[in-house]
Amino acid sequence: MSAIVAIVGRPNVGKSTLFNRLIKRREAIVDAVSGVTRDRHYGKSDWNGREFSVIDTGGYVKGSDDVFEAEIDKQVELAIDEADVIIFMVDVETGVTGMDEDVAKLLRKVKKPVLLAVNKVDNNKRAEDAVEFYSLGLGDYFTIASTNGSGTGDLLDALVEVLPEKEPNRDDELPRFAVVGRPNAGKSSFINALIGEDRYIVTDVAGTTRDSIDTKYNRFGFEFNLVDTAGIRRKSKVREDLEFYSVMRSVRAIEHSDVCIIILDATRGFDGQVQNIFWLAQRNNKGIVILVNKWDLVEDKETNTIKHYTQKIKEAMEPFTDVPIVFMSVLAKQRIFKAIETAVQVYENRSRKIQTRKFNDVMLPLIENYPPPAYKGKFVKIKFCTQLPTPYPQFAFFCNLPQYVRDPYKRFLENKLRENFDFTGVPISVFMRKK
Ligand code: GDP
Ligand code: GDP
Repeated sequence: MSAIVAIVGRPNVGKSTLFNRLIKRREAIVDAVSGVTRDRHYGKSDWNGREFSVIDTGGYVKGSDDVFEAEIDKQVELAIDEADVIIFMVDVETGVTGMDEDVAKLLRKVKKPVLLAVNKVDNNKRAEDAVEFYSLGLGDYFTIASTNGSGTGDLLDALVEVLPEKEPNRDDELPRFAVVGRPNAGKSSFINALIGEDRYIVTDVAGTTRDSIDTKYNRFGFEFNLVDTAGIRRKSKVREDLEFYSVMRSVRAIEHSDVCIIILDATRGFDGQVQNIFWLAQRNNKGIVILVNKWDLVEDKETNTIKHYTQKIKEAMEPFTDVPIVFMSVLAKQRIFKAIETAVQVYENRSRKIQTRKFNDVMLPLIENYPPPAYKGKFVKIKFCTQLPTPYPQFAFFCNLPQYVRDPYKRFLENKLRENFDFTGVPISVFMRKK
């Protein structure tokens, strides 16, 4: 799990520019693999070896200033709720505005670290002008220029200083489930079905990070932790109709979980917003189960309805399609048990460790039958492979010329891995290493 950093501020101060700078290198790699343009407001970044997630809050609410003004309180409040660290960005070109003061007022009350970034400081004169931002009452600030990156190193040094410590290893080895999806998909109903009555709650395990709350449950013969989600903690549904809010709420739950239970409404399908949540879970290397809820509402079901529906979802999931899909109805109490059973199975798949000996015995003959194609006249020889000791499955293949192994061959290796060992519902990574 990595810490969450939110960039807040009024429109046009340069939030997206900074965001893109922070995630650029990594995003480029991901996009080359998936070939799909994804949500551009959430990404991973790192500095001095510390990884963190970045959210560009402004990216979700574009539009005129007055539209934004109506939203800004909620947006900042949400960032305060969901993020570990907040970067509050202002613009030296315009100086302090009323809206900046409103945001500062909210942020002054916050216990979480707030870093004030004065942007567009492209020259020395502007560095002097930045002094006026002391009036926001947030103390020292960082002068940066997002367009060319000047000053961002100091900002990031300060940022990693205040990132919360990583959570220590948990003493229980129970699956942590996050239930995520669009508003109205049936998340609360499902959670209620899972939780049942209060007496099923065993303990409240307050997480070490301020507001991560796992609650331990014992239901249907399974023990698991339910990761705090919007549905449990918050009674009111605050503007979850906006994609920003539901994604932002999902980010935290996803990052804290082992397995994401993604619920979708059968009558709406695996649409763009669900795809973004799926992608978030995948990027975070979480186990994934798709629950197609409200199956009772789908009329004229016949033999092939489930098959066709599954096919459509899998097309949208490309290239990671080895994901279980359960058709259920919380209302009709159908297949809820199956849903949780599947989630537990995915958790086990994600924890699977394959013995190196067995792994080589299976993979090396397959590789011999279908070796990596020669590249620039050079032959790649894979000699040995092993699973890495990471919390989720990652595999290294050792060879003479790792740089010559292309993505299609890595996909071949991944497919063979999946055929021979059960990693259903689990994103896996394949690396080529020099031997
Ligand atoms: P957002 O609405 O806060 O996400 O702002 P954007 O990132 O879209 O930036 C708004 C405008 O400010 C764009 O035209 C950027 O090119 C410009 N901008 C961003 N950072 C800088 C900077 O460091 N210096 C200058 N001069 N312009 C910048
Ligand atoms: P959430 O916003 O994702 O937490 O969704 P809710 O659990 O509040 O459910 C939204 C609506 O869908 C409520 O009116 C539920 O009664 C209804 N609902 C939930 N599950 C089902 C189901 O399996 N079938 C049908 N027909 N309705 C459902």
